Amino acid sequence: MMSMLSSVFRSLFSRPDTVQYPAGPSTVPLGNRGKVVWDMEKCIYCRLCERNCPTKAIGTDKVGKTQSIARLRCIQCRTCVDICPTNAISMLTEHTKPSPHKEVHVYGKEMKQFEYRVERMGDWPPAKQEGKKLAAVEIKAEENGPA
Ligand code: SF4
Ligand code: SF4
Repeated sequence: MMSMLSSVFRSLFSRPDTVQYPAGPSTVPLGNRGKVVWDMEKCIYCRLCERNCPTKAIGTDKVGKTQSIARLRCIQCRTCVDICPTNAISMLTEHTKPSPHKEVHVYGKEMKQFEYRVERMGDWPPAKQEGKKLAAVEIKAEENGPA
């Protein structure tokens, strides 16, 4: 009983162990496997990343010159980063912010470095619609470039 009371009092006057993410910032450890990002200047459209992704999270569009990633499919295994012959893919420590929609993030040659457009997830993989442009929901940029 005494130990339970002391636990209760200690908890009452100590700082919480949890964080209010996403309302407040969260700190992530160095080397954390977060979201995958592309530097499209370096991509040669060899499709190695798309073919080797175990969850089919990547869609390479050679005609439209884009790389798409279905964030909810990605399991942060890092295979795509390690297999890319031109180092076009990197991994951030942060994860994608929560969204009420299933989103696809599209990186394109015409966009600034690490910028991507957000599209609602329709047919997947997007290779079925190679060369076709979907309507962008919004354009976003990575807040921090790859480490
Ligand atoms: S493996 Fe690299 S170079 Fe090849 S398609 Fe993927 S991002 Fe582009
Ligand atoms: S980290 Fe793994 S699961 Fe995610 S896109 Fe790359 S290969 Fe696919």
